[in-house]
Amino acid sequence: MKIICVGRNYIDHAKELNNPIPNSPLIFMKPSTALLLDGKPFYIPYFSNDIHYELELVLKIKKNGKAITHEFASGYYDEIGLGIDFTARDVQDRLKSKGQSWELAKAFDYSACVGDFIPKGDLDLTSIHFQMKKGDDIVQDGNSADMIFSFDYLIHYISQFITLQTGDLIFTGTPAGVGKVTAGDQYTGILEGKTLLSCNIK
Ligand code: ZN
Repeated sequence: MKIICVGRNYIDHAKELNNPIPNSPLIFMKPSTALLLDGKPFYIPYFSNDIHYELELVLKIKKNGKAITHEFASGYYDEIGLGIDFTARDVQDRLKSKGQSWELAKAFDYSACVGDFIPKGDLDLTSIHFQMKKGDDIVQDGNSADMIFSFDYLIHYISQFITLQTGDLIFTGTPAGVGKVTAGDQYTGILEGKTLLSCNIK
């Protein structure tokens, strides 16, 4: 399986990092070795002093597809969950300043924490409310209504370049409120009031 991620898909997050609003999706990938399953702790890696959490809605691809039309895209996923796109912001800033690829800041081991999934039929896809809690505080509060590119458009767009396969995950971008993690932090991802993900930082 592979993990395909979308950058800057919420205007408020693009603005908080002083990035331009994209006119086509910004895509990057994480390898299968990035997967951190729900409930497992995240260990801060030695190569970064500025790991950020980014809570995102995640689509689970249910069948293989290539060059999927927008019209048929919704048939390629049945389940939606939450994930944390852990990002080494200091590494990313260093690479960006040199005009280099972000890969090492995003694709490192255990950088993709993935929680439980729920059937998409239980949700209004155009308005999915999700929140990240750090301890008892809500630090991110997002809604799929604020995405620049919709789930179906992302599947259509990505599959023109990359064949989607059963079990692949698409991280659909983070809303504003990203921040630095510290050892001892406890994060909880909540989707429409249901806790789908928890991750402790070590
Ligand atoms: Zn992200």
